[in-house]
Amino acid sequence: SKRVGVLGAGQLGRMLAIAGYPLGQKFGFYGMSDDEPSALLGHMHKQSDDTDSLQKLVDFADVITYESENTDVETVRKISQTTPVYPGEKSLFVTQHRGREKGMFDQLEIPCASYRIVDSLESLQLAVDEIGVPAILKTTTEGYDGKGQFVLKEKEQIDEAWKSIGGRELILEGFVEFHRELSIVAVRNANNEHVYYPLVQNVHHEGILRYTIAPAREVSEEIQQQAELYMQKLLDELDHVGVLTLELFETTDGLVANEMAPRVHNSGHWTIEGALTSQFENHIRAICGLPLGSTEPRQPLAAMINIIGETGPVEKVLTMDNVFLHLYDKAERKGRKLGHINLIADDEESLFSLFKELSDFLPK
Ligand code: ATP
Ligand code: MG
Ligand code: MG
Repeated sequence: SKRVGVLGAGQLGRMLAIAGYPLGQKFGFYGMSDDEPSALLGHMHKQSDDTDSLQKLVDFADVITYESENTDVETVRKISQTTPVYPGEKSLFVTQHRGREKGMFDQLEIPCASYRIVDSLESLQLAVDEIGVPAILKTTTEGYDGKGQFVLKEKEQIDEAWKSIGGRELILEGFVEFHRELSIVAVRNANNEHVYYPLVQNVHHEGILRYTIAPAREVSEEIQQQAELYMQKLLDELDHVGVLTLELFETTDGLVANEMAPRVHNSGHWTIEGALTSQFENHIRAICGLPLGSTEPRQPLAAMINIIGETGPVEKVLTMDNVFLHLYDKAERKGRKLGHINLIADDEESLFSLFKELSDFLPK
């Protein structure tokens, strides 16, 4: 039994703990703000946001992990001198910066959008000339749920784009014409075991993931192999321990990488009831030096629907078969992820009819 310290106390940490308890692990959290869900799990030790309680968490823990790629690298470096932190510093350093991330894609010959780093209106103008429009401008760090982005449809929008998110380092990316968005969750442990979940299909609305279908429909064995090869290269290059997620665009020319996350991912939440071992359990297994579990789906089809902004008619969900409710105990706020609903089905038709019944939770 190991004591796992989690930097962050949101829903990801909470679901890691829920998966880790049956394996006999203990959990402690270092909360970054007061209204995070793990704070409300009474039997967990909630830490407040100061260096004293960070030290308490480090003293408590046999191993430390983190919930977010925005975790401070310097903090992780310091902790690593006394306590192992997984995924390691390199995984965090690369994935928290879109430019470094794309640099690694290039280095490993993983196709991605063309891009330029810009830090002034002049360099943005130059970058738009080189990359052309449409293009998408993003902050290099800290963005999530599509925040800190501006889609440039025309060159005339350069000033407006810079006014809207400029004044800091940005990345301009060529707009990828994709058929669908896919993602793959993979896991590596320190014994260099690798496991891969099937590619899943993600549907976003206003920059936020709304639902995932798992496995993605009509994915050839070849495409799955391609995605696994990309993941294997990334896991090995990063010397990654834990879950790593890669978001991909499916295009006429094959898979194009968008971004990656050194952690359990929203598009992997379906694995809780949908796979033999959930992404959360496999992350805990990996960072605790345990053998990894099977990533096989339990049934032909699964899906995950996010509950965004308001909780909605969740009691109805509880009356439905093959449907599983996961609420994070967070206050309602526009655009906020409050929970998700997992679904399992034998075929597309039954999945579709469950989706119809759950239309209250889908974007209008
Ligand atoms: P997340 O919540 O997944 O971390 P994020 O804020 O980091 O999101 P991205 O994943 O980079 O942002 O972009 C959000 C969405 O915007 C993507 O899922 C995709 O739909 C669209 N998008 C981003 N980059 C591109 C691109 N280069 N070409 C086309 N569409 C893009
Ligand atoms: Mg992101
Ligand atoms: Mg994304």
